[in-house]
Formats: sequence, C-alpha cells, structure tokens
Amino acid sequence: MGPFEFYNPTTLIFGKGKLSSLPAEVSKYGKKVLLVYGGGSIKRSGLYDQTLSLLKEAGAEVTELAGVEPNPRLSTVHRGVELCRENSIELILAVGGGSVLDCAKAIAVGAKYEGDMWDFVERKAAPEAGLPLGTVLTMAATGSEMNGGSVITNEATQEKMGWGSLYAYPAFSILDPEHTFSLPKDQTVYGIVDIMSHVLEHYFHLDSNTPVQDGFCETILRTVMETAPKLVEDLNNFELRETIMYCSTMALNGMISMGLRGDWATHNIEHAVSAVYDIPHGGGLAILFPNWMKYNIDVQPERFKQLAVQVMGVDPAGKSDKEIGLEGIEALRSFWTSIGAPSSLADYDIDDKDIEVMADKSVRFGPFGNFRKLERQDVIEIYNMSL
Ligand code: NAP
Ligand code: FE
Repeated sequence: MGPFEFYNPTTLIFGKGKLSSLPAEVSKYGKKVLLVYGGGSIKRSGLYDQTLSLLKEAGAEVTELAGVEPNPRLSTVHRGVELCRENSIELILAVGGGSVLDCAKAIAVGAKYEGDMWDFVERKAAPEAGLPLGTVLTMAATGSEMNGGSVITNEATQEKMGWGSLYAYPAFSILDPEHTFSLPKDQTVYGIVDIMSHVLEHYFHLDSNTPVQDGFCETILRTVMETAPKLVEDLNNFELRETIMYCSTMALNGMISMGLRGDWATHNIEHAVSAVYDIPHGGGLAILFPNWMKYNIDVQPERFKQLAVQVMGVDPAGKSDKEIGLEGIEALRSFWTSIGAPSSLADYDIDDKDIEVMADKSVRFGPFGNFRKLERQDVIEIYNMSL
C-alpha cells in the first residue's frame, strides 16, 4: 500500500422511503434552494412532485434549473451560477443521474468563484469554496453521489473533462432504489458498465500488498455480474436495484482506493469520444475497456490472470498467465455484450475519421494512466482496436 489520508464528508441516506429525510436535511442549510434536474424523467416518475411537496414542507423557496443534458454542458453550468447569484441560493438540490449531479457540483463551486468555473477544469485555478449540495439519485452508475468528482462538457471547444474538489462532495445524498425503477434497460446497462469500469480502473494499479482492496474490487465485480443479468430482465425488482445502487456508490466513494493509485486511462480515452460524439459514457467504456486491457496485458499478466480466475471464472489449468488473462478479457466482453452493451465504435456509427482529434484531446494534459503511461500513439492504437 502507499500512504494515504481518507476523508469523505457526504452523509449517505440509503433505502426505501428515505426521501422523507429531505425536509430535515434541507433545513440545515437554509431556505433558498436551487432545484437542478434533467430532461424530464423525474416529472414522468412522480419524483419531481414528491420533492417539491417535501421542499414546501421545509418552507423552502425554490428556484429551478431544468434540462441538464446527459454529458452536462458548461453553458448549463453558467445558467445555474447566474440563478444562484440572482436568487441568493443557500443550497443546491440535484435530483437525477450523474449528469445532473456533476452539473450541480460545477454550479456549487462556480457560484463561489468570480471567474469562469471552466478554470477549475483546465487546472488554472482550484476551488476555495462551494455552496452546499444535496442530491437525490435516480441512476446507479457514476458514484457522483458520494465523491468530489464531476465531468463537464465544453460544447464550444468539444472538450469533456473531469475535475474534482473537496468542495464538490455532496453534503448529503438520498438513495432510494425505487427511484431507479423507471430507468430504461439501456441506461441501466450503461450504469452497470460504468460501475464495473470504476472498479477495474482501481484494480489495475502497481501498488503492492493490497489484498483487502483487491478483494473488495473482486467482490463488487462478482456481485454486479451475478445481479445484472437478472436485473435487465426484471427492472422493478427492489433487491436487484438495491444491490446495484450500493455497488455503484462503493465503486467510487474512496473505499476501494485507499492505499493505491488506480489507472483511469480508459475514462480519459472515453471522455474524448463522448466529447466529440456525445455518446453515453457507459456505452463508450464497454467498447474501450477490453481493448485497453488487451493492449496493456504485458505490463503485468499475473494481474489479468487474477481477474480472470477470481472474477470471470476462467479455468487456469495448463495455460500461461497471459492466456488466462486474455480469456478473462474475452469473458468480460461477452458478459457486457450479453446484457446489451455495445462492443465497437461502429455500434455508434463512429469510424476512423476523428481518431487523431480524439487522441489529441485525451493527451491534453500530457501522457496519462498510472498502470501504464499512454502516449498519443498508444491511444490511437486503442481507438483502432475499437472500430
Ligand atoms: P445521466 O447522463 O445522468 O442520465 C442518462 C439518462 O438517463 C438521461 O437521459 C436521464 O434522463 C435518464 N435517467 C436518469 N435517471 C432516470 C430514471 N430514474 N428514470 C428514467 N430515466 C432516467 O447518466 P449517468 O451515467 O448517471 O451520468 C453520466 C455522466 O456522468 C457522464 O457525463 C459521465 O462522464 C459522468 N461520470 C461522472 C463520474 C463522477 O464521479 N462524477 C464518474 C463517471 C462518469 P433525464 O435527463 O430526463 O433525467
Ligand atoms: Fe465513469
């Protein structure tokens, strides 16, 4: 393990009916609330009406920012910052999936900064304050409900980049698995791929003596793989939704990353694709991750073997570490395909036209990845493998 400090300030409020905690939570921060949500799913599911009536119970004055896009846009963040200033907002409440949460995080720090919030994404400045943020999650995927990370798309420059800050952690997050019942099958699958990818990003590290962390990772992956095929056939099953929701938070709230530095190259490579083509994040990861794995198997074949044997159920008898590892990668690809995830860029009608553009975007801050540093040419190879 490497040395580490761990701090996570988010209060997690998890389980059936837990939305009832909202008035008490909101009252801790003030009366003036900016309600942030997406393209209308919460209106269709009834969650919008429930939230408004609980906010009324708390005596809140509500300002709304509706229409946050999947892959949230900088211009929407700017609109939110304006609303915070015009209405002296005291608490931001994000109700939706990771995009809504990430947008709300950017608004929270943007409202306390005189310059453009994009400075934080470009590492020109670091947040020094943020408005308090509460969330009600409707999609299990990103872990954004219990971390300080956020991903924003600058539509003017076609850049999609992650940033993070202590000031972007939600103060509280309410997670009721029933709020994810209305999530359609395709989005459910994208969420499952994202959860597994977050675990895999951690799993490919170069630190030694991490048996507990590796075991946590393997348990989450096995659990998601046991649960997902049942869930896609039974979308309103409370226990299956509950398991996936808990896995998604645990995959990216810092619990499995103590003492290790995960890789995170595949997320970067994917962001460059969704920056140009606006595809769902989980769909992009399903295409790219197995190819990142194949490309890097020689760095540490025994790591890939461990994944194959402990998670993918590959029989190791009579095979080299690399052969076992490759079988594991194929098993991962087949699993994702079996639940309905895409497997090549062609599935989104993406050809080789913009590969160089996307590779340039991915190396914006230089070579990246902690398991193996990737240069521009490596990224081009991985895109070519993914066509
Ligand atoms: P999302 O983009 O928030 O939502 C995808 C779609 O699902 C939207 O159209 C949304 O509709 C719909 N939806 C959400 N909940 C629903 C429900 N209960 N019922 C019906 N429809 C529902 O998806 P996401 O995967 O959670 O977030 C993706 C974003 O997060 C990407 O930008 C990705 O790069 C980023 N990300 C962030 C982190 C992090 O740590 N912060 C980690 C990984 C990825 P509505 O708009 O109508 O609500
Ligand atoms: Fe992700």
